[in-house]
Amino acid sequence: MGNTVTLTDEELDMIKAGLLIPVAGYARISKDDEKDRHGVKDQHRDNRVNARKYGWIVVYEYEDNDRSASKPNVVRKDFETMLVALRRGRTTEGVEIRGVIVVHEDRLIRRPGDYERFVEEFTLDDGRVYADEQGKKDLYSDDVETMGLMGAVISKAESRRMRKRARNNHRRRAAEGKVPRGKPRFGWLEDKITAHPVNGRAINKAAKDFIAGRSTASITLEWRRKGILTTEGNQFKQQTLALVLKNPRICGYRSINGQLVCDEKGNPIVGEWDALVTPAEWKKIDAIFKARRGKVVGPSGETAGELGLREPKYLLTGLARCGKPKADGSLCLTRHRITWVPKHSWHNYSCQPRCNGGCAGTARQGPAVDEFVTEAVLAKLEEVTAFDVTDVEWEGQEQLDDRYRRLSALKTQYASGGISDGFFFETVRSLEVEIDRLRGEQRKFVLSGQQALTTTANIRERWFADDPDVALDLSQKRAFLRLALHAVVIHPAGKGGRFNPDLLELRWRKEIQVPSLAAA
Ligand SMILES: [Zn+2]
Repeated sequence: MGNTVTLTDEELDMIKAGLLIPVAGYARISKDDEKDRHGVKDQHRDNRVNARKYGWIVVYEYEDNDRSASKPNVVRKDFETMLVALRRGRTTEGVEIRGVIVVHEDRLIRRPGDYERFVEEFTLDDGRVYADEQGKKDLYSDDVETMGLMGAVISKAESRRMRKRARNNHRRRAAEGKVPRGKPRFGWLEDKITAHPVNGRAINKAAKDFIAGRSTASITLEWRRKGILTTEGNQFKQQTLALVLKNPRICGYRSINGQLVCDEKGNPIVGEWDALVTPAEWKKIDAIFKARRGKVVGPSGETAGELGLREPKYLLTGLARCGKPKADGSLCLTRHRITWVPKHSWHNYSCQPRCNGGCAGTARQGPAVDEFVTEAVLAKLEEVTAFDVTDVEWEGQEQLDDRYRRLSALKTQYASGGISDGFFFETVRSLEVEIDRLRGEQRKFVLSGQQALTTTANIRERWFADDPDVALDLSQKRAFLRLALHAVVIHPAGKGGRFNPDLLELRWRKEIQVPSLAAA
């Protein structure tokens, strides 16, 4: 009869809001499958996973035990029930379904007649979705009829051979830098080789913005505002955008299962499609994501704490620190917290209470501090000649690649019995220590002050712009502040409460090299 899938409240809400399309998953055991339900379980699992890739969700699962299918008139009960559900748009339990997903067409179709009946019921309503492991199919289009009929007459053994061939082919094509078969990819035209004039440039800009410290949330909002949609025609989510940026294909590299495809010498294979960013840019993006994995990114780009906090809403969150001297004469330097002052409708920066490690000894009105710091930083950045640093390579890259190669060579040698346990483990340990150190350096390099300089031109103009396409948003502004400043130390004020900028101490970064006017 089929089973209703238990969904979380969140998933139900997403269906209601139209963010997930509810579909039925169909699975079938045929006579040469294993004796238990394993085959079916796997098919259901794959269906659920694949559905989510398309923004769908399996809400109902049908399965048929078809082991006696050699008899010509065996009835597949769930298949028939599913056809009825398609006719009504709902299962017998009243669960709405707006599509069907199967692992492979040969699970759905036994005989050509099945296919015709299925398509007929399916297309009774508009806008339904269908997919198998090869991707989404438009069952409303004409040529799909013949495709399906073809599929039904190909014997299963044959289709299995074809799939294996396809898999091997996939690897070989990758090694040759050929475009992978399959769906069109966001950023390129239908041929998957030529950069898409709009989306390709959007990726390029997003990459540069991201390297310069802009958050994926903020870039996602820009894309939504501009009406940039996924190849499936959906709005971008933060995670979808992150996937686009993380994928090495944007710089022309190829990966399979998250690993770069390399030649025998360990150099990445360069694909035949247009690169949208430089390899150096992609490496920076990759390093930033890796450094952030599961972490909150702190105000100086360092990672701190677990994910789950929201993005800072104020300009100097994490940058403003307390300047009150402690008993021993050293400064408190605790990060200021934000407090809202309803009387003035503004935020204050103030030292944490003692229980949080602060001294509760300083507080300052937010807008005045923000304005002063903004002016000071803009003035500083304007002094910096706009030198382009996007193509500065990290000098340790070769060393790191070399260590990785040695490690893998060592493992190969060990596996073939060429070296002793003692030598192997000792060498591996020292290589791993070195790799960790180098990767730490790489992260620091990427996250350090060289980030945001790419767009020094017109910062001031964009800082105060009204046009949302031009204006810097908070995450970008904060990136510029972090580029220029370690911290803003707020010294205690006397009585009276007038804002006095002399009590703000800007701790500039040394790395921004400000050329002297005389030299320029
Ligand atoms: Zn303090």
